[in-house]
Amino acid sequence: MGDHVLVLNATYEPLSTVGWQRAVVLVLDGIAETVAADEVRRVRSPSISLARPHVIRLLSYVRVPRGRRTPVTRRGVLARDGHQCGYCRGRADTVDHVVPRSRSGGGHTWANLVAACRSCNGRKGNRTPDEAGMPLLVQPFEPLGVGAVLLRAGTAGRTEWEPWLTRPAAS
Ligand SMILES: [Zn+2]
Repeated sequence: MGDHVLVLNATYEPLSTVGWQRAVVLVLDGIAETVAADEVRRVRSPSISLARPHVIRLLSYVRVPRGRRTPVTRRGVLARDGHQCGYCRGRADTVDHVVPRSRSGGGHTWANLVAACRSCNGRKGNRTPDEAGMPLLVQPFEPLGVGAVLLRAGTAGRTEWEPWLTRPAAS
């Protein structure tokens, strides 16, 4: 994950991440320019010597389809919730359907899934938080925008990326 490169749109909005080799190809092909790079770890070949990029920017604007969804995965839910149980704030390594799957509204969706520790998950069983007397301490949400980009990268963010991630979105 330390080798991921943040890709910005031409407008400097974070778009996605790619491996550094792919980022170098995009820069050499004139599709992107390097915005921030590691001068120490250079990429060398007989014909080039290039600082290894941390952040690149596409030279042409790419239209991002509205409402691009992040697939719901167990790993993704755990990452979104920081591996913290939504019922006791303990260490979570399972995922709970807030409204049980057998009920109406019990979908396999970001809004209905929360990280849970084994003990809470077992105790809650096939009940809603109300029925189980286990109030939910967090409000599950669907990751969008920068949050979704970071989730796909599998990291809470690299410090080299921060100036671009805190930048207000252009749109
Ligand atoms: Zn718990």
